[in-house]
Amino acid sequence: MSFVFDPPPQVWLPLAGSDARFPVRRVYCVGRNYVEHAKEMGFSGREAPFFFMKPADALVVVPHGTTGQMPYPSVTQDLHHEIELVVAIGRGGARIAAADAGQHIFGYAVGLDMTRRDLQGEAKKQGRPWEVGKAFDASAPIGPIHRAQGASPMTAGAISLEVNGSMRQSSDVAKLIWNIGEIIEHLSALWALSPGDLIFTGTPEGVAAVSRGDQMVGRVAGLGELHVAVS
Ligand code: MN
Repeated sequence: MSFVFDPPPQVWLPLAGSDARFPVRRVYCVGRNYVEHAKEMGFSGREAPFFFMKPADALVVVPHGTTGQMPYPSVTQDLHHEIELVVAIGRGGARIAAADAGQHIFGYAVGLDMTRRDLQGEAKKQGRPWEVGKAFDASAPIGPIHRAQGASPMTAGAISLEVNGSMRQSSDVAKLIWNIGEIIEHLSALWALSPGDLIFTGTPEGVAAVSRGDQMVGRVAGLGELHVAVS
């Protein structure tokens, strides 16, 4: 038996301080999960968490100490940055209680949920799916995985994004509307999680457009820096 063509390579992320590789299965994302970002998108109040996905091969893997290259995507005139804390699942499960979520977390990374905002806005208006706005090629630059410290999910830590040296987004993971345990509880009620799943946990306020030639530097305390150039 042979494949009719070479199967696509396994997508994987480097592990900080190790030669080991983290194989990626699915990429889940949480929508509107910081109050000030929900407001800037025209929403208020605590809605139930909601989710969308990106294909694993939309990740732009950026090893430590390098600058990732993100080609400016087609069709859009309004490419937005969204800096996010990413949770990496190491143990699968369904219907995981928030209190048990820490046992399922392998580690964390810094990621960017890049968004074709004009196409997403049109999809919202028409009541259509979000894939054209969210799940395009190279839409998810991400740095190495850092192993979780301790048994409980991360609850705080500065998160920020600079573009060309100017601060665009600056907040704290403590301001998540739905914390990591709650995200895993809600998500695992909808889909069974497996090792290799990534969860982009939402972005704070300050989302805005980037152009070709812009240099982005994302940071989450304890997880290093994510350098990405738009080309
Ligand atoms: Mn996002």
